[in-house]
Amino acid sequence: MVAIGPTANMRYLAGFASHPDERVCLLLVSSQAASVVVPGLNAEEWAAHTSLPLHTWADDEGRDGALQEALSERLPVNRLAVDGATRADFLLALMATADPQETIALSSLNIPLRLHKSPEEVEAMQRAAAQADRAMQAGIDACQPGVTEAQIAWAIEEAFRLDGDEEVCFTLVASGPNGAFPHHHSGDRPLEEGDAVVIDIGASLKGYKSDITRVVFLGQPPPEFLAGYQAVLGANERARAAVRPGMTAGQVDSAARTTLEAAGYGEYFVHRTGHGLGLETHEPPWIVAGGQQILEEGMAFSIEPGVYIPGQFGVRIEDIVVVTETGVRNLTGCGHQRVVKS
Ligand code: ZN
Ligand code: ZN
Repeated sequence: MVAIGPTANMRYLAGFASHPDERVCLLLVSSQAASVVVPGLNAEEWAAHTSLPLHTWADDEGRDGALQEALSERLPVNRLAVDGATRADFLLALMATADPQETIALSSLNIPLRLHKSPEEVEAMQRAAAQADRAMQAGIDACQPGVTEAQIAWAIEEAFRLDGDEEVCFTLVASGPNGAFPHHHSGDRPLEEGDAVVIDIGASLKGYKSDITRVVFLGQPPPEFLAGYQAVLGANERARAAVRPGMTAGQVDSAARTTLEAAGYGEYFVHRTGHGLGLETHEPPWIVAGGQQILEEGMAFSIEPGVYIPGQFGVRIEDIVVVTETGVRNLTGCGHQRVVKS
């Protein structure tokens, strides 16, 4: 039996996922049947989206009766495969009722769930990417000395919201030395003349995620920054050019990595070249050194090489691409030229 909480997998498989909170909500799939354990307050919404049998439970009666009802035809459960993003307390409640002999991670079954995007999904991602382009422009426009990282992040968030996104997933604004932290949390540091500002943002449009990174320079860029930017841009271009059906994820990573190594930045490229994207911001395929995943039409992922010079600056240039029948399509429309504001 497979158990899936209100996650991207539930949305993909059931066509709907209710608001995730502490109330147990589980899609249960076995070879005989599929049904959903649903908090009563969400039952109407579920019924509007799916014809799957529902086992509902009310706040004042608790979840155990619904869980027992759902499991009654499936006991004994020999093997239970659990979606990794399902809450631990849901899993504990399920295990207490089902008492499986073996529990494994759904990901270990190697089911290529969500790995190949349909043409409709690619178009949904294209719309999300176009919104990210516009939000990035709002962020670039907001960059000037004296404005804080948090204020720029807010301008981006507002742009996403006004554009119709249901959720802003992250607005990472890392200025000056903060740019050397790949996952910096935007803070109250005011931008200064001479800062490189790394802006990495993403939102959700009808479930599909966006993700883009660009760099803005305030003032006249010094040679060290120009060299770093050129190297990262070259790595981004070479990695994108390497994407086509039949290549491995590792070969795409290598195209970026060898470019940065040749330019002398190998030790400053401290992460993988990219990650898959779709209903989640991070999902397979992983564009990682040595990655054996063979790229096929419909796979969507980021290309985001970067260099991080401690105490000085960071540069990352990130696009979202999709493997096509013969090559690659870049969903990100924002240009790659250096943005210098002086
Ligand atoms: Zn990314
Ligand atoms: Zn990103």
